[in-house]
Amino acid sequence: MKIFVNSFYYPIYTLGPGVRIGLWLQGCSIKCKNCISRHTWYISPEYQMDTQILAEKINSIPCLKITISGGEPLDQAPSLIHLLKLIRKTKNDILLYTGYELEKYIQKHTSTWEELRYLVDVIIDGPFIWGQETEYVWKGSENQKMYILNPKLLPLYEEYKNKTKNKKLQIIEYRNNFLLVGIPYQKDYEKLVELTKLF
Ligand code: SF4
Repeated sequence: MKIFVNSFYYPIYTLGPGVRIGLWLQGCSIKCKNCISRHTWYISPEYQMDTQILAEKINSIPCLKITISGGEPLDQAPSLIHLLKLIRKTKNDILLYTGYELEKYIQKHTSTWEELRYLVDVIIDGPFIWGQETEYVWKGSENQKMYILNPKLLPLYEEYKNKTKNKKLQIIEYRNNFLLVGIPYQKDYEKLVELTKLF
């Protein structure tokens, strides 16, 4: 099975609690205003990867935590589910970001959700809404919500849920370009757009 991938990196420190693997999928149909990840919106063959090969790479990293973002991961739900099944045994903290509102998504895609719910531990949902600034480190706009599905991770994520932004972002040199990891304040958007032009 194939999956569209923008980038994949370890270690990341600014997207979820602890030291993690970061996986950004390619393609997003939601297209929020002033999204900082516009480079992940459009799919083309160069982004396609074999899910088995990607899973082997992820499983070879001795890290139990992974954050999957995008792009919009649920726009390629069958491939995502296939990948998650292949990595589930080696990861016990799988954090998934989606721009869809989870409750509405479940109503529309009940059978997908029945599979997905056991393959992820935490979901952060909702579109990025410009104008809804937030202090919290784990989200870009106030409307977004965190769902802790795995009760074993409640203490870790309850603490993380209360963390406020401290302007920490990670910049990674990646394939002759740069990756910006983390969720900035909306008020820093213009400065970051200027900065990413330098990339
Ligand atoms: S869902 Fe995420 S990647 Fe898609 S436009 Fe919104 S913020 Fe950007």
